[in-house]
Amino acid sequence: MIVMEPVLEPSVPGEILLRASNLRAEYEAASGGIVAVDDVSLSIRDGEVLGVAGESGCGKSTLGAVLSLTARPPLYVLGGELEIAGRKLSFDPDHAPPRLWRGSVVSLLPQGAMNSISPTIRIGDFAVDIIRAHEPGVSRKEAIDRAAERLEQLGLPARALSSYPHQLSGGMKQRVVTVLSTLLNPRLLIADEPTSALDVSTQKVMIELLIELLDRRLVGSVIFVTHDLPVLRMIAHRIAIMYAGRIAEIGETEEIINRARHPYTGALLASVLVPEPQIRRRRITGISGAPPSLADPPPGCRFHPRCNLATDVCRTTQPPQVGDWHQYAACWWAQDHQGEAVVSYL
Ligand code: SF4
Repeated sequence: MIVMEPVLEPSVPGEILLRASNLRAEYEAASGGIVAVDDVSLSIRDGEVLGVAGESGCGKSTLGAVLSLTARPPLYVLGGELEIAGRKLSFDPDHAPPRLWRGSVVSLLPQGAMNSISPTIRIGDFAVDIIRAHEPGVSRKEAIDRAAERLEQLGLPARALSSYPHQLSGGMKQRVVTVLSTLLNPRLLIADEPTSALDVSTQKVMIELLIELLDRRLVGSVIFVTHDLPVLRMIAHRIAIMYAGRIAEIGETEEIINRARHPYTGALLASVLVPEPQIRRRRITGISGAPPSLADPPPGCRFHPRCNLATDVCRTTQPPQVGDWHQYAACWWAQDHQGEAVVSYL
C-alpha cells in the first residue's frame, strides 16, 4: 500500500541556496558518448527539499552525481555552472572539481548507502575517515566524540560507532550512515533513493530524520532522488520530473501531483496509486512505449513518440520552458494551454 499523505512539514524554504546552470554530462561508451544530463538548469532555496523523479534511466541519479561532484569515469561532466551559498564552480572536463567542496558544501548519500561501508571496518572508522578527509589534524578520539555527539543529538545510539555494519538492522544502518554523511554540515545533501530498500514504516523514520537535519540546520537543502512519487509527496517542497536527460516539468509538489502541466508527468502519475479524490477515480495505467535511447534520442520533444498530445512541431523542435525557474513545463501543449492542467486531456 502506498502512503500518499504529506505527513510532514519541513521548515519553509528561504533564499536561493543553489543555482545549477546548463549542466551537461555524458557516459563514454565504445559506440560514442551517451548524454545522460542534457542542458539541465535548476535552483533550490535554502531549507528546501527538491524531489527528482522519473523512470529508470531518465538521468536522475546521474544528475545527483553531477551536483554532488562525484562523477567518475566513464561519466564526464562536459559543462555547466554551479553556485552554492555564494561559491561558484564552472565544470570543465579537464579539471576535477575541488575536493574540499565534497562533504562540507555538497554531500552525497548514495544509492544503497547502508551497504556501502566495508563490512570489515567499524562504523566509527567510517566517521573518522569523513572528518579527517577535511580536517587531517583531528585525533581519532576527537572524531569519534564528534560523531557520537551528533548521533545522540539525533536520537541514535552512539554505541553504533563500535559496531560492524552487519550488526545493525537495515533501517538503523541507513539512519546512522545518513547522519555520518552529514557530519560536516553540508549546504546541500543529495540523497539518491534513500528509502527504496526500506519498508513503509522505516521509510517514514528516514524521512523524519532528513527533516530533522534540515530543521536543525545541519544540512542546508536536500535533493531527494527517487522513482517513488508517493514518498516525494511526504517530504518534497517541489518536484522535478526528468525525462531522457532533461527536466520535463518542475513545480510545487501539490501542483505537480494535482495539476500537472506536462503530458509525461500526467502519464507518470497515472502509473502510480494516487489517492486524491479527483484522481482516485482514474484507472492506473502504465506509460505506453519505453524511454528513448540516450545514445540516439528523438528530435524535438524527446517524449513525442509516447505522447498522445504531440503535434508536428513537437516532432521537430525542442519545446520551450513555459513558466519561471520555480515552476515550468517544457512542452508545446503547455505553451498553448496556459494555466491548464494536462490530466483531463490524457
Ligand atoms: S512538447 Fe509535444 S510531444 Fe512533448 S510533451 Fe508536450 S505535447 Fe507532448
